Amino acid sequence: MRELTSPSAVREIIRAHGFKVRKALGQNFLMDANIIEKIIQSAHLTDRDLVFEIGPGLGALTRRLARSAGTVIAIELDVNLLPILQETLADFPNARVVHGDALKVDFDRLAREQTGGAFGQQGKRYKLVANLPYYITTPILMHLLTGGFNLERLVVMIQKEVADRLQASPGGKDYGSLSVAVQYYTVPEMVARVPKTVFYPAPDVDSAVIRLTRREVPPVKVTSEELFFKVVRAAFGQRRKTLLNSLTGSGLADRETWLEVLAEAGIEPARRGETLSLQEFAHLANVFHLRVH
Ligand code: SAM
Repeated sequence: MRELTSPSAVREIIRAHGFKVRKALGQNFLMDANIIEKIIQSAHLTDRDLVFEIGPGLGALTRRLARSAGTVIAIELDVNLLPILQETLADFPNARVVHGDALKVDFDRLAREQTGGAFGQQGKRYKLVANLPYYITTPILMHLLTGGFNLERLVVMIQKEVADRLQASPGGKDYGSLSVAVQYYTVPEMVARVPKTVFYPAPDVDSAVIRLTRREVPPVKVTSEELFFKVVRAAFGQRRKTLLNSLTGSGLADRETWLEVLAEAGIEPARRGETLSLQEFAHLANVFHLRVH
């Protein structure tokens, strides 16, 4: 089987199967062996690893993952790609394709089912490597981070502009609830910047590969993670408003309560939500938690 890392090989397999590329499903197939190699190296895979892939597409990255990992479970939504994957992954019995929507997948459960309980909640930690479909980057990252899954590391290709948001500091335009969630659960690192030209078809934006390594202990102490993220979402709810107005607008509590909570937390109500650090969000949420429980 010819590697899928050249424009001619990609076009050939698409033509042979009469496949229609669906841009609405974020189908931009990676065809650059060097970028694939960078992704694999930064994931630090061994033959004892279980790796999930979201959206295997034609199977270019999946094939390379299967060479380095013990087991690969690739979740693909587009049913029309399944016969192609059957062909491109035929030499790799350790790569399994599951048809479904990654946003709805319980990764721990699937890991348990596929490995007889060796991986998953009570079992070993697993990894996730993917060239993500960009129309769902934020919801899929939130699902992976806040789903309580036993994930050790994620290496993902995403839009460059979203990659900037993951590492953003308070006060800037890129800082938002995604930055807070990523920095609370993981240590984000930039692996590579990727030009549009290495994809077929080329996407509209530049991309980046980032690595998110799960923290053993969060950088701030929160009494309730659920409430912490509710407060964070509320604070970023209306970006041009003051913190007090955003929090009040969220409906979590009335204006009077928020004024008291902010006073007790020592946070100026006229500030904007996007200026708060992780520490300040944690403090605010903990004071609010005491108040409502
Ligand atoms: N991994 C391949 C590569 O690097 O060439 C394809 C990556 S392409 C950017 C994204 C893939 O995700 C496509 O194959 C698309 O069909 C699939 N996809 C889109 N939405 C999905 C979803 N909700 N769940 C799982 N896969 C999805």
